[in-house]
Amino acid sequence: MTEKHGGSDLRANITVARPVGRRGPGETYLVNGHKWFASVPMADCFLTVAQTEGGVSCLFIPRRRADGSLNGITVKRLKDKLGNRANASSEIEYHDAEAVLVGEEGRGVRTILLSAEYTRLDFAVGSAGLMRAALSQALHHNDHRTAFGAPLAQLPIQAPVLADLVLEWAGAAHLGFRVARAEDAHDDVSERLVSRLLTPVAKFWNCRRVAGVTEEVIQSIGGNAYIEEHDCPRYYREAPLNAIWEGTSNMMVMDVGRVLAREPKAVEPVIDEIRPAADEHPLLAAALAEIEELVADPEDTARYLVTRIALATQAALLVREAPTVVAEAFIASRLGGGWGPGYGTLRGLDFPAIIDYGRLG
Ligand SMILES: Cc1cc2nc3c(=O)[nH]c(=O)nc-3n(C[C@H](O)[C@H](O)[C@H](O)COP(=O)(O)OP(=O)(O)OC[C@H]3O[C@@H](n4cnc5c(N)ncnc54)[C@H](O)[C@@H]3O)c2cc1C
Repeated sequence: MTEKHGGSDLRANITVARPVGRRGPGETYLVNGHKWFASVPMADCFLTVAQTEGGVSCLFIPRRRADGSLNGITVKRLKDKLGNRANASSEIEYHDAEAVLVGEEGRGVRTILLSAEYTRLDFAVGSAGLMRAALSQALHHNDHRTAFGAPLAQLPIQAPVLADLVLEWAGAAHLGFRVARAEDAHDDVSERLVSRLLTPVAKFWNCRRVAGVTEEVIQSIGGNAYIEEHDCPRYYREAPLNAIWEGTSNMMVMDVGRVLAREPKAVEPVIDEIRPAADEHPLLAAALAEIEELVADPEDTARYLVTRIALATQAALLVREAPTVVAEAFIASRLGGGWGPGYGTLRGLDFPAIIDYGRLG
């Protein structure tokens, strides 16, 4: 999708596709142009978008033509990336690359974004997984290293940091898997709406939070986690990527706005799911009331609204699925005042119990 002038505004793409004979879905086109980002360039086939007479269209491009010869795809350069080095990313050019039109001409963005719904879910769940991997390192180190006469995990200034990281991971994991469940139940109208709304919400929020978690984990382990022999530098370099590819944070926020404009009912099953927990927790009830007010005019409050939907959904899921101590700490910190902006500013909570939940996870 992404060309030199940008990856967000796909309608501005300049790569072109011309029909060899007849035009339309399943027909053969020749593609000419470039892509500034093309990951996994060794793949056997690609989905790409290009301009046709009908507008931006989606095309399937195999590595080899029907006669077995290599298709017109040239890898100009591999990207030298901050992280994510196990995955090759490249700049490519198409020179009369043989392709097949997928879907109607002019419907390319919508068609290619059907696959993005799954990859966006991948990054929401994957960010929770990255948090989990980092958290496991933090808990192991802090349980086994002693300073000032006690394991680090028991020290009064360190325990709130670890507990806060557990809350962050728990919220991310529950949100990610809730969306996955909705995706699995796509035939159910209500679940389809949940997945349509919460996929960009979860992609936005989990991917935003993971970079901070990996940094705080390094801090909680200390110097050893900054050394390349440790797993943490890799997690740290990988983390910011999830918020960029398959749509940046702002693109997710715009997508939520699009859902609320086109399918305003999508928010209803999400609100219905939050309400039972909100009835028991005044802070969550206040957040829910605010969401109901803001969805009427999402433009002005876009990032704030998406953040509130994410936090309220996470809180409701934890009320339902996690120990009370975890859910209440999450609500008090994320929806109450006096928390943040960094990790470890929680006060007056049962830190050992919260950390224990992270150990079991
Ligand atoms: C390692 C890696 C691998 C990648 N692999 C692929 C790949 O295989 N295929 C592919 O197609 N792309 C790939 N990408 C590209 C990625 O999808 C784009 O970088 C991303 O979509 C953003 O596009 P951009 O970088 O051109 O930023 P831009 O579109 O220029 O945006 C820059 C900033 O402006 C914001 N912005 C843009 N428009 C608006 C708006 N209307 N309102 C508010 N904010 C806005 C964006 O959110 C972003 O923060 C890859 C990127 C990386 C880093």
